[in-house]
Amino acid sequence: MVKEKVDVEYNKVTPEIAGELGTIFGEKNVLTEVEKMESYAYDERGKQFRHMPDVVVKAENEEQIAQLMKLANAEHIPVTPRGAGSGLAGAAVPLYGGIVLSLEKMNKILELDEINMVAVCEPGVVTNDLCKAVADKGLFYAGYPMSVESSYIGSNIATNAGGAKVIKYGSTRSHVLGLEVITPTGEKLSLGGKRRKETSGYSLLHLMIGSEGTLGIITKVIINLMPTPNATVDLLVPFGSFDDAVKASSNVIRTTKVYPVSMEFMDIFSVKTTVEHLNLPPLPAQDKAEAYLLFTLEGKNRDELDELAETAGTACLEMGALDVFVASTKTESEKVWNVRINTPAVVLEKWPHVLGGDVVVPRSETAEFIGRTKKILEKYSGVQISFYGHIGDGNIHPVLIDTANRTDKEWMEFSETIYEEVCLLGSQMGGTVSGEHGIGFAKKHVLGQSLGNYPISVMRGIKKVFDPDGILNPGKIFDLK
Ligand SMILES: Cc1cc2nc3c(=O)[nH]c(=O)nc-3n(C[C@H](O)[C@H](O)[C@H](O)COP(=O)(O)OP(=O)(O)OC[C@H]3O[C@@H](n4cnc5c(N)ncnc54)[C@H](O)[C@@H]3O)c2cc1C
Repeated sequence: MVKEKVDVEYNKVTPEIAGELGTIFGEKNVLTEVEKMESYAYDERGKQFRHMPDVVVKAENEEQIAQLMKLANAEHIPVTPRGAGSGLAGAAVPLYGGIVLSLEKMNKILELDEINMVAVCEPGVVTNDLCKAVADKGLFYAGYPMSVESSYIGSNIATNAGGAKVIKYGSTRSHVLGLEVITPTGEKLSLGGKRRKETSGYSLLHLMIGSEGTLGIITKVIINLMPTPNATVDLLVPFGSFDDAVKASSNVIRTTKVYPVSMEFMDIFSVKTTVEHLNLPPLPAQDKAEAYLLFTLEGKNRDELDELAETAGTACLEMGALDVFVASTKTESEKVWNVRINTPAVVLEKWPHVLGGDVVVPRSETAEFIGRTKKILEKYSGVQISFYGHIGDGNIHPVLIDTANRTDKEWMEFSETIYEEVCLLGSQMGGTVSGEHGIGFAKKHVLGQSLGNYPISVMRGIKKVFDPDGILNPGKIFDLK
């Protein structure tokens, strides 16, 4: 099994240090009882990967965070920033114990600036709360991870979260205009702002985005807003083969001449599992489909939407679609999206041992990747795979499921071997080992294999500049030595 972490010595939080934390954060914001800290020991990657912190602190402002980082440096204690804990790569797990810094109380939307069309908020705002607040002003935030109802905006930035609208609007990175950050040594950095252009040296702003809490703690975010999108129409299209579905996805973009807002796919196993688990009515053609495309098109008015749906439907039928279902009312749209939105959570809920992947390949290679992954699986027994994801981005979530009732340890060893092979296959096919979930500790080994030594040594060098003592979220993305 891949080693979770290399040996690095850190000090423990003593009662005296816990007392100092009480002075900084207030006693009510410092947790030391095991039962209260338990839920901060793991994320959605699974409880079996838990590591207990020595203490959990809940920050209310940036000054407390700056003081914390100065204290942690002086005492050589690791600090792990944490949002909602919905991460799938173990990035918020305190691998080396120490202090978990929860951002849950920094959850205020500070400003909705309608003239500049930006939102300014604290990092612990639940992303969907931000979406709703800006919608009330007739504006739109385009970030949309499928965990939008639980994950925080600060962590979406820290992981450069993707989701279902990336094909049209880009990942979270595309929406961030500014950040305030406390560095691992307790300094404050103000990066970017409400301005929309900048060519002034290296972009520290973009270095922070996607750095998974290893280079700094985000304390304030300035987010780009857009005008409310036009009306949309959703199409659900069953196919007899993945190959046809992939070809159709490109044909839809070419013939409609617009990027869809979303372009998703699900395999028949994901569909049947979700439909059965949630007791939903079956999707059309469930008895003969192998894959479904689900996409959303935006148009100015009903006539334009009808024309787009017609063109897109024809593009799918040309590529072998079994049928085309157009959802033109809100209720119909909710019905067709229900299955895709719920699939990740259903899979996690239904089986105790699940390992989700997040491979990206060029869109043209999606069907080939799925076929070759199935071939890899033929070598093993007692494992099932489900595929769903963002086909418009070539971002596939191959999910390994234990069907042999293994122990935690057996599953970890077994699944990681397959997982590595699948990730490396994606990277060899012109892709990468993570499109949106990040590296955390789960994928650092495979990231090193796919990138090679030199890029990792450059990343280590950057980390050293920000964090000379290696105390902020150590053991994530790469090992410190
Ligand atoms: C059902 C389900 C569906 C999902 N769908 C998607 C999807 O479509 N797209 C996608 O991209 N992800 C998805 N995810 C993964 C996850 O929701 C995202 O990675 C999300 O951005 C994590 O947010 P969080 O608040 O839960 O952060 P956490 O898991 O708590 O932390 C994630 C990382 O951010 C760091 N961090 C947190 N706050 C800060 C801060 N203020 N400053 C610096 N670093 C910080 C942590 O240290 C950690 O490295 C899904 C997860 C689940 C369970």
